[in-house]
Amino acid sequence: MAQKRKPAPVTPENLNPYEFALTQFDRAAEFLELDAGTRELLSTPKRQLTVSVPIKMDNKKIKVFMGYRVQHSIARGPSKGGIRFHPGVTLDEVKALAMWMTWKCAVVNIPFGGAKGGITVDPKALSSDENERLTRRYTSEIAIVLGHDRDIPAPDVYTTPQHMAWIMDTFSMTQGYSTLGVVTGKPIPLGGSAGRNEATAEGCFVTIDEAAKRMRLPLKGATAAVQGYGNAGMHVARFLEEAGVKVLAVSDSRGGIYDKKGLRMELVNAAKTKKGSVTAAAGQKISNAELLELPVDVLVPAALEGAITRANAARIKAKIVAEAANGPTTPDADDILRSNGTVVIPDILANAGGVTVSYFEWVQDLYSFFWDADVVRNHLERSLRRAYEDVAETARRHDTNLRTGALILAVGRVEEATRLRGLFP
Ligand code: NAD
Repeated sequence: MAQKRKPAPVTPENLNPYEFALTQFDRAAEFLELDAGTRELLSTPKRQLTVSVPIKMDNKKIKVFMGYRVQHSIARGPSKGGIRFHPGVTLDEVKALAMWMTWKCAVVNIPFGGAKGGITVDPKALSSDENERLTRRYTSEIAIVLGHDRDIPAPDVYTTPQHMAWIMDTFSMTQGYSTLGVVTGKPIPLGGSAGRNEATAEGCFVTIDEAAKRMRLPLKGATAAVQGYGNAGMHVARFLEEAGVKVLAVSDSRGGIYDKKGLRMELVNAAKTKKGSVTAAAGQKISNAELLELPVDVLVPAALEGAITRANAARIKAKIVAEAANGPTTPDADDILRSNGTVVIPDILANAGGVTVSYFEWVQDLYSFFWDADVVRNHLERSLRRAYEDVAETARRHDTNLRTGALILAVGRVEEATRLRGLFP
């Protein structure tokens, strides 16, 4: 009797963001023919700080949270990267995000290395006073590695300009004078930059425009879906709407809404402000998973890592995936999307507008000379269009996708700086 063949074992996909950041790095390192030592040097975080953050809760009880700050590289300048408050924060996630910051700063060619920070906490469960005490204590715990010429935080998931104001104030108190340049994404009266709030989204829109032009896809009349209606996603949806794109669906952590004729962002914003979720706006309810698979021209994942994986990549129908979020697509999903002809604008390019205007904010703080909004916008647009062209050209030369093209460009720049500096001692 013929023996039944056993099905080939399926190895589960590794969804640890640090592991897939390393896989992405290895793909670029292969093209650059980097030796083993250089690969190890460039991919290992320079510093990893883990701190406990005790605070007194409003009920007078003490609670201790875990906090992290990882500096991945300072080869090209001080390290730069946001601070995330989220229950899912782990050291590995922060290491991945720090590494992506290094490559992102190099893609847009600004003189920063990469860093990231976070606290494992659900900030929505804290009062505003508790949030403030948590931010201030965390800042004082990591202050030993911060400074305008050392490491400069910024906002990320569930942190806002107000959190940045507390960081600036706390750090200033430890120094005895006001240190505007220690953090970016601050409110404008405290040395923030015009245009920083919407900069991530504006840069993302510019990259979508570049991709659409190259694909001869008119944005006017095109369709889009945006997963994650926060700082990044909300403004991308608005810029798309302003360009004549029909935004069919948006979502947040509570789910999504869909309208085949297109949602009106003004109404979605009103619902989000009033009821705390886009799901309160008029429209058909859909899940986050369904949103990703809608037949739209442009899909913008703007929430968390690992949204597009081996499990759903084959069902993604968008022509363009613009990664406003960091790490939304796994390497396996990248391969599937490429073979289906989907253009993925990688996070280190698509969301680099945020750190680009953070750089402008830092420059303005150091000079105490502030720019008008149109100056910021012009510089941002020019930087992102140039970066897109550099990435597209690198990808074309190496016959690879935009992600690996962006990484070849970025890792190459960081490798060059590292080689020119030499190894101490
Ligand atoms: P935010 O806190 O302003 O918004 C996050 C949004 O995502 C919220 O609407 C939240 O409800 C939603 N969300 C959370 N979990 C979700 C889930 N599982 N499914 C769907 N939606 C979910 O955060 P942000 O600053 O907009 O950051 C979003 C992404 O953009 C992150 O990956 C971040 O690293 C990246 N990013 C942000 C900036 C920036 O300047 N803020 C810059 C570069 C990259």
